Amino acid sequence: QLQSIHCSDYLIHFGNESYNQLNKHLKDTNYSTIFILVDENTHNYCLPYFMSQITGDYNFEIIEIDAGEEFKNLETCSGVWSALSELGADRKSLIINLGGGVITDLGGFVASTFMRGINFINVPTTLLSMVDASVGGKTGVDLGLLKNQVGVFNNPVMVLIDSFYLKTLPHEQLRSGSAEMLKHGLIYDEEYWNKLKDPAVLNTKLIDDLIHRSVVIKNEIVLQDPHEGGLRKIVNFGHTLGHAIETYFLKNDDKKSLLHGEAIAIGMILAAYLSTQIENFPEKKLHEIKSTMLSYFNKVDFGKDDYAAIIDLMKFDKKNSHGNINFVLLKNTGQSVFDKKVSNELIIKAFEFYKN
Ligand code: NAD
Ligand code: ZN
Repeated sequence: QLQSIHCSDYLIHFGNESYNQLNKHLKDTNYSTIFILVDENTHNYCLPYFMSQITGDYNFEIIEIDAGEEFKNLETCSGVWSALSELGADRKSLIINLGGGVITDLGGFVASTFMRGINFINVPTTLLSMVDASVGGKTGVDLGLLKNQVGVFNNPVMVLIDSFYLKTLPHEQLRSGSAEMLKHGLIYDEEYWNKLKDPAVLNTKLIDDLIHRSVVIKNEIVLQDPHEGGLRKIVNFGHTLGHAIETYFLKNDDKKSLLHGEAIAIGMILAAYLSTQIENFPEKKLHEIKSTMLSYFNKVDFGKDDYAAIIDLMKFDKKNSHGNINFVLLKNTGQSVFDKKVSNELIIKAFEFYKN
């Protein structure tokens, strides 16, 4: 049995033990109504199993939203707030968010704002939401094209992580989530990175330990800097360019869009190249990162015009957050630095390195 993890003011429980903890919590707390927020997929694939683990006799109210990032917005929140009101929710109600990062981000935000805040519990069902979104207290929704523009920091009462849910997760979603695990290894833990070099580990029994370690790493980083004033920025490794690449492919009708993890993997290769130029990151390790990422994700084609457009998008994105373009770079595997400036010329060289 994997040890529960202490986050600032809540616990993350794992496997079967997590349902014991949940059942105990529901029994001990006199919730007036318990809502379960799902999307169409987690309604089908995750809710039946979740229900089978509940021992008490409760009248759960199920609220379903459409699946997908395009529904992570205020309109959907409005629908959920209304449903809560109509179904008689009050300050002593609980929301259980059963789903991927869209459900836990949106459900956490809805719960944090409904009647100035009611309790919520997260049950992440994608690899990404288990290893990344389960820790750190960020809740929120998108505003048009601007990701996570509206939200609050607020913690769930508890988080339950059960890898059983991954059985029905589409394979490419599993791969996409693994990019954040690779990131945790590169920025914080070389030994962990070494364990992830072969993508085949995702489909072995080791997955539970690997998820647990990723959550421990993210939690250690967040505890040192909860509101991202400094150190927490390292979890953005690969995301500065990766996010611009993701948006570029999403907006460009001629190109097949990339999953978040695929784009971040490219961002991590580019950032590793920049690290060799600026932080003396060892060349040999750069090649190791590139070949590992390419064993997880297919290579993506870039044309020369794409580079400039992606760099522009990255700058536009940062303008909206009043920030400079700062990179997280590696000094070594498992050792990262943040707030590093990089020239456009060097970014283009990084793309050339990726391409060749
Ligand atoms: P998602 O919630 O959209 O899930 C991906 C897809 O998988 C959806 O279609 C969903 O319906 C389906 N699905 C979920 N669980 C399933 C299961 N067990 N079996 C079958 N299908 C299943 O996306 P995601 O990748 O989990 O999360 C992405 C979101 O997470 C983004 O909005 C991102 O901003 C957010 N995020 C938040 C944090 C944070 O700290 N709060 C961190 C990282 C990412
Ligand atoms: Zn990410």
